[in-house]
Amino acid sequence: MAINFIDLAAQQAGIRAKLDTAIATVLDQGNYIMGPQVKSFEAGLSDFCGAKHSLSCANGTDALSLALMALGVKAGDAVFVPSFTFAATAEVVPFIGATPIFVDVHPDTFNLDTASLKRGIEEAGRLGLTPKCVIPVDLFGLPADFNGIIPIARENGMSVIDDAAQGFGARYHNRVVGSLADITTTSFFPAKPLGCYGDGGAVFTDNDETAKLIDSYRVHGKGSHKYDNERIGMNSRLDTLQAAILIEKLAIFADEIDKRQAVAKRYSDALRGTFEVPHIPDGLVSTWAQYTLKTASEEARTAFQDKAKAAGVPTTVYYPVPLHLQTAFKAFPRDPNGLAVSEDLAKRVISLPMHPYLDTETQDTIINAIL
Ligand SMILES: *Cc1c(COP(=O)(O)O)cnc(C)c1O
Repeated sequence: MAINFIDLAAQQAGIRAKLDTAIATVLDQGNYIMGPQVKSFEAGLSDFCGAKHSLSCANGTDALSLALMALGVKAGDAVFVPSFTFAATAEVVPFIGATPIFVDVHPDTFNLDTASLKRGIEEAGRLGLTPKCVIPVDLFGLPADFNGIIPIARENGMSVIDDAAQGFGARYHNRVVGSLADITTTSFFPAKPLGCYGDGGAVFTDNDETAKLIDSYRVHGKGSHKYDNERIGMNSRLDTLQAAILIEKLAIFADEIDKRQAVAKRYSDALRGTFEVPHIPDGLVSTWAQYTLKTASEEARTAFQDKAKAAGVPTTVYYPVPLHLQTAFKAFPRDPNGLAVSEDLAKRVISLPMHPYLDTETQDTIINAIL
């Protein structure tokens, strides 16, 4: 039997009857945009993560754009982003006319490095840009170093947006991702830990004013009167159908996160010593959006990939090129000391099959093949 990198079919099999009913209900009601399931899903999100306001939207990229819009980020502002992440984290910044400044990540956690952030802020000063915002990413599901980042942001008058596209559901010193930063964003892309059957996203905040702005921006900048728009916004809503599906998936999400812990622990117990296994700092719980090893060298990774493939074990490299080296991003500023860690990780990381329904027998097949 083929091994899946992510097994969405196994998850679906467990809740198929509920999904069928939920979808049929939406079809019966015919309320496809902002139907009652959207409000109810948003309430469920707030119950789950503790954020005062949960606002769904069309995808995780729009969630980041909406956050930047609500903060009033504009041309002349600097927004600090890690280079070792998915393109969406950075692309939203020039899209609204501001300047992304790339900073490096920590070699153990793969998350934003505070020393590099400080150098990036100095670079913004030299370039005449206003430090406005930092977007730490909870890469592979592990919360970023918020206790380190937030004081630096505050000293420099900056807001913090937590890009939790991969980290929604994770824990940080007894707190749940969703209110660790001024604004938190997530994605419900199918392969994310909490995924729907299409595109979807959400923005979280405890701030009433920010929530009001995001609610307006996601529907064309609406005001109190439907045909008197107060600001230039976008069309970014979560479909009622996706909300109905997500209600069923959110109901099993906490249990799935627990199951992912068990899978990750079995991997690390078996592979520690042979590879550099993921490092989870004390007090943090990852959602394990990815289980990512480091090989000794780029050559070792190529050999690993080839052998895994021959043994029928799917692997993926997230991410083979750091953003600051990509065509669309290479002209933007960065930590003047360089981004050596991001460049090194891009050559050595490799992610293994990871999902809550990975049974021990299949996992042992993967582990034996890799060893
Ligand atoms: C997936 C992802 C996004 C974008 O989410 P979409 O829903 O695909 O737009 C943003 N940031 C990170 C880190 C991601 O992994």
